[in-house]
Amino acid sequence: MPTINDFNFENKKALIRVDFNVPLDADFKVTDATRIESAKPTILKILEDGGSCVLMSHLGRPKGVSAEFSLQHIVETVSEIIGVQVKFIDDCVGEKVEQAVNELESGEILLLENLRFYDEEKKGDVDFAEQLSKLGDIYVNDAFGTAHRAHASTTTIAQFFEGKKCFGLLLAKEIESINKVLKDSKKPVTAVIGGAKVSSKIDVIKNIIPKVDNIIIGGGMAFTFLKVKGGKIGSSLVEDDKLELAQEILNLATNSGTRIHLPIDVIAADAFSADANTQIVPANEIPDGWMGLDVGPKTNVGFSFIIAESQTILWNGPLGVFEMPVFANGTIELGNAIADATDFGSFSLVGGGDSVAAVKQFNLQDRVSYVSTGGGAMLEMLEGKTLPGIEAILK
Ligand code: AMP
Repeated sequence: MPTINDFNFENKKALIRVDFNVPLDADFKVTDATRIESAKPTILKILEDGGSCVLMSHLGRPKGVSAEFSLQHIVETVSEIIGVQVKFIDDCVGEKVEQAVNELESGEILLLENLRFYDEEKKGDVDFAEQLSKLGDIYVNDAFGTAHRAHASTTTIAQFFEGKKCFGLLLAKEIESINKVLKDSKKPVTAVIGGAKVSSKIDVIKNIIPKVDNIIIGGGMAFTFLKVKGGKIGSSLVEDDKLELAQEILNLATNSGTRIHLPIDVIAADAFSADANTQIVPANEIPDGWMGLDVGPKTNVGFSFIIAESQTILWNGPLGVFEMPVFANGTIELGNAIADATDFGSFSLVGGGDSVAAVKQFNLQDRVSYVSTGGGAMLEMLEGKTLPGIEAILK
């Protein structure tokens, strides 16, 4: 896997695709700079080599050129985080930009304007990619969050850098972490799959069945499985059109010797509300009119035990409606169990928007081995797909 560590950037201009698609408040101030922080090691290594950096990214979903989505808004934040005053140019292709790149000296950083001001970016347009390719000597992809998109700056561009293209440290770490779970894993391997719907994670579950020893299923999606096993699930979230598929998954698991663990008890509520009445009931005997919104105490003990026995843990999706404190306990207990196992030497990878949010909310981000920066990209890798942005570098 070619990474920036395989190159010496002295007097070279690195054209780096970063993911600086950060959230901004009403005053256009960055409210969460995690994505900028994540790109810092790559940028610093190139500067320390004596090279310069041309940074390109998208921001939001602009329709054409729009001041609201200008990357100008983040220049000061990037400068503060990297510790170098970043230069900015209000376009991303063309003569003016090429001129600015030519004038760039070692140790300097130039941030280009939003790539998505051009429709050609999302279309993966070859001419646009060729214009971008004039802006650097070596192409570095460090944008995991968009690696599943075949866009001009993430994929098409790579063909213009034969032998001069590589992964940044962030993207390399993402690939390595997923491989630690799916390829070179220490057994037993446990995947925790939670969240609202089975339908959004079917392909992930199918792909990982032969690769893991245990799959813990929680969250709303557990009820489709509980129902197909004959359980009474009250008015819990269920996808009736996915019952057959749930059965198919259970059969696949049995055939490959993978254990699927479902909740045995749940916190049932009489409304989808933080101040609903609640009771603890067996997961397969939920009374009519009640819905399971979190896993129960016996389930927490069982799941924690499985986690403690696991050498490799993957977590994607919450076990309950953790946004409401009364239904957050299962997700908190699971997070703590994963953190404890990690303290004892297990490898843990957390990914997917809501589990990342949960890990941050409960302050566990430093107690797991790796928190992925790309929700959609990570899911597609777990589904066994080759991401176009990754393939383009390896080709
Ligand atoms: P996803 O985006 O598919 O990972 O789902 C995350 C969402 O699932 C969160 O907003 C949770 O509140 C929700 N969720 C988790 N458990 C349940 C449940 N038992 N019933 C309904 N929604 C749930």
